[in-house]
Amino acid sequence: MARLIFITGASSGIGQALAERCHAEGWHLALVARRADDLRAWAQARGWSAERWRVYPADVADIDSIVAAGQACLAQQGVPDVVVANAGISVGMDTAERSDLDVMARTLAVNNVGMAATFQPFVAAMRQRGSGTLVGIASVAAIRGLPGHGAYCASKAGVVAYCESLRGELRGSGVRVVTLLPGYVDTPLTRKNRYPMPFLLSADRFAQRALRAIEQGVSYRVIPWQMALVAKLLRVLPNAWFDRLLSGRPRKARADQGSATGS
Ligand code: NDP
Repeated sequence: MARLIFITGASSGIGQALAERCHAEGWHLALVARRADDLRAWAQARGWSAERWRVYPADVADIDSIVAAGQACLAQQGVPDVVVANAGISVGMDTAERSDLDVMARTLAVNNVGMAATFQPFVAAMRQRGSGTLVGIASVAAIRGLPGHGAYCASKAGVVAYCESLRGELRGSGVRVVTLLPGYVDTPLTRKNRYPMPFLLSADRFAQRALRAIEQGVSYRVIPWQMALVAKLLRVLPNAWFDRLLSGRPRKARADQGSATGS
């Protein structure tokens, strides 16, 4: 029987590349995004058989919307083998600016509450079946706080801690929790970045490595491995050194600076 994967943020970048790779490897797909028509058109353009995929329109920042999408998947396609909470946004912030508090609230709503709401409909069903994998897409930005990127770094550090809590809660149930921390991946989210992006991966290369990690059921993985080494070094760097290293570096664009996306 074909395996089923539920992916949020499937209309672009990493989510789309993961959908494509999973389809190539025989999985059935449950795909979520707000731009559902674009997502449908993209899947149809690939000539994929209609039995292999479904699209569930949802805004992950709207709890009822994403929970309803999960419940629709359970009713129409059954309990997924894997659920990937991938939808995310990344916008710079300056705490001195009142408007950036709204940016932070939105970031936490999408990246954190949206992740828990993505998993929620599936937890009981996976527990009952005694198997399943819940995948949280974090970021290397979770490792240290980057100046100008407080909302995103806080949200991704939150993803790491949240997924660890969930892993402990589900221990012994047969349900795994996999936390993935991408380094730089070439997607619309990073294309407008104004700074160098070492070890940049194509979305497909990232998806390939992410799928292997998911199938292995690892609890935590930084991709690519070179970035994992950098992450380890950054973690142990004394604060004064870290602050000096980051001082004067170009910052993530804020919402009113034009290029609001970029990691
Ligand atoms: P993209 O901007 O290319 O794609 C983001 C996806 O998230 C889109 O499909 C978008 O779909 C969806 N999305 C955004 N907001 C919502 C929402 N409110 N409700 C539902 N879906 C939403 O980004 P990436 O593919 O690069 O990023 C995917 C994940 O990977 C994010 O969590 C990001 O933080 C993380 N990441 C990415 C890195 C990179 O270098 N690219 C590095 C580290 C982490 P739609 O607009 O149709 O709703």
